[in-house]
Amino acid sequence: MTKCENCGKENDKEAKFCNNCGINLKTNKFNNKKSQNCCECGYAIIGNPKFCKECGTKIKEK
Ligand SMILES: [Zn+2]
Ligand SMILES: [Zn+2]
Repeated sequence: MTKCENCGKENDKEAKFCNNCGINLKTNKFNNKKSQNCCECGYAIIGNPKFCKECGTKIKEK
């Protein structure tokens, strides 16, 4: 297990990106190419999570 230093989520040790917040687990930096805002609450979504970290709304894929 690799624990995400950003959100605390435990990821597979082979994982390159956190499956919760999308941070790069090696560099602890976001790959912000896909940054967008939640359509419900406007929270800045960074990385490529499936759900908004703030309100839990499912993120539409672009
Ligand atoms: Zn995370
Ligand atoms: Zn939201």
